[in-house]
Amino acid sequence: MTPYSQRLVTIDATFRCPLECPKCFRQTLRSNNMKIPGDDMTIEQFNKLVNYFARIDICGQVSDPIFNPNFIDFLKICKEKNKKISIHTAASQKPESWWKQAFESNLDAHWIFGIDGLPHESFLYRINQDGEKLFKMMQLAKKCGVKYVIWQYIIFSYNENHIEEANKLAKDNDIIFELNYSGRWQKEKEHDMYKPIDSSKRLISKHDR
Ligand code: SF4
Repeated sequence: MTPYSQRLVTIDATFRCPLECPKCFRQTLRSNNMKIPGDDMTIEQFNKLVNYFARIDICGQVSDPIFNPNFIDFLKICKEKNKKISIHTAASQKPESWWKQAFESNLDAHWIFGIDGLPHESFLYRINQDGEKLFKMMQLAKKCGVKYVIWQYIIFSYNENHIEEANKLAKDNDIIFELNYSGRWQKEKEHDMYKPIDSSKRLISKHDR
């Protein structure tokens, strides 16, 4: 049996997301006229998980967790019960007052922000994202006292030459910079506008072999 301290669960806490990232499974479902699966996790359901797992990773595959109406309560529960929580988010459609409340409700939470490229260009993949606003929310997190603020940057063709600049921007703001290499490319013969030109900046996908 897995020791308690190593028990980790990764969840989708809702079915909502206002972004339209082209390679997200949401778009596959949508193009096939299928409903996004799932529902908003309740506080009762979340408590059940927290009572069993030592660490909760809210890394949605088809949703952004901040749109669960109970999300700030989830942060507070983890704080009260001394549980680790990581949040992956990319949506910018919440007011600054909401972000402040979320950060202050659990300063130990790990926040991972998906901003692919420099803040002014991230919307090229993260469709509907205001990257500049989200970057300001990362700065706000640091100002509030959140220890782990991580900038996750997936390398695409439009941002592959901006990595150093982004890394410096992160350092200047005491933000952890994390590069992600994607392998979700179309077949070699098909045009994929997001595929980095520099092959060292992409994972080999099955179509590249
Ligand atoms: S932010 Fe996440 S859930 Fe939302 S569209 Fe993009 S990849 Fe999908």
